[in-house]
Amino acid sequence: MFRSRGVGSPSGGPVPLKGDLQQRALGAYLGLAVGDALGATTEFMTPGEIRERHGVHRKISGGGWLRLKPGQVTDDTEMSLALGRSIVERRGVDAGAVASAFSEWMRGQPVDMGNTVRRGILHFRTTGQTAVPENEYDAGNGACMRFLPVALAYWNASDEELMRASRLQSHVTHNSPLADAGTETLLSMVVAALTGRDKASLLAMAHGLAERHPAYRFDRRRVENPSGYIVHTLQAVFQAFFSNDSFEAILVDVVNRGGDADTTGAIAGMLAGAFHGLSVIPASWRKALNPQVRKACESQTIELLALAAERDWAIPRI
Ligand code: MN
Ligand code: MN
Repeated sequence: MFRSRGVGSPSGGPVPLKGDLQQRALGAYLGLAVGDALGATTEFMTPGEIRERHGVHRKISGGGWLRLKPGQVTDDTEMSLALGRSIVERRGVDAGAVASAFSEWMRGQPVDMGNTVRRGILHFRTTGQTAVPENEYDAGNGACMRFLPVALAYWNASDEELMRASRLQSHVTHNSPLADAGTETLLSMVVAALTGRDKASLLAMAHGLAERHPAYRFDRRRVENPSGYIVHTLQAVFQAFFSNDSFEAILVDVVNRGGDADTTGAIAGMLAGAFHGLSVIPASWRKALNPQVRKACESQTIELLALAAERDWAIPRI
């Protein structure tokens, strides 16, 4: 069964998908990168420390505990690009190719790497296995922060194909039902946003996750200092995304909460970019981004969408 995508808009009218899709897809990839670069400055700080040091943090200025250059990104963007390259090369998600791509990325001595990611890549290197054993403690946000290339290459695939691709890439490092549920919901939300669905539909998807897994309820206390635990990460992202109207306000809200701010920034930036499109990303943020990273995100977006377009024949016409 195919879910109909690309229908529905805030006005209820048809959504012109082609050019629009590309703008939204570019918005998602650059949104991910600017969110990562913006949030890296406040990663592991508390909201109080951020206020003291920056007032309201709203400039891509580098620094942070990783001492980044302004516009430099971290593992969130780099692992997405590594995943995306392997999808383009193999014309789809191939777990072995994904694991090799991550392993190669690790060999380049990245500026930052999560512990679960490191464990997963070492597991692949020593066993050749492309999935870690199921483990409830693998419920970090590391597979969620990097899934965007799957959304772009599979946005028009069946739900089954989309979820299968998601699990293959996730389980290379993270294998927990709770993390899968969060990652798959975010993936569905990004795909829905790419195809022009309205915010009420996205909210229903987030509430659906909270109904199936009550840990994800996000309508209570404001989440400050969201940790790398995917539940806390997504609660902060949902709160920021659904309580602010502009791309900029969403990102400023989420990265000023501190905690795993580069990753909440990356995930919120990808979702908000997919929803609002490229044109609403502040020009100063786009310009601040490392130019090589910006170009890599742009060209990969086009390549992944081209791959999806070749699947067109399998999609019922809307
Ligand atoms: Mn990071
Ligand atoms: Mn992080």
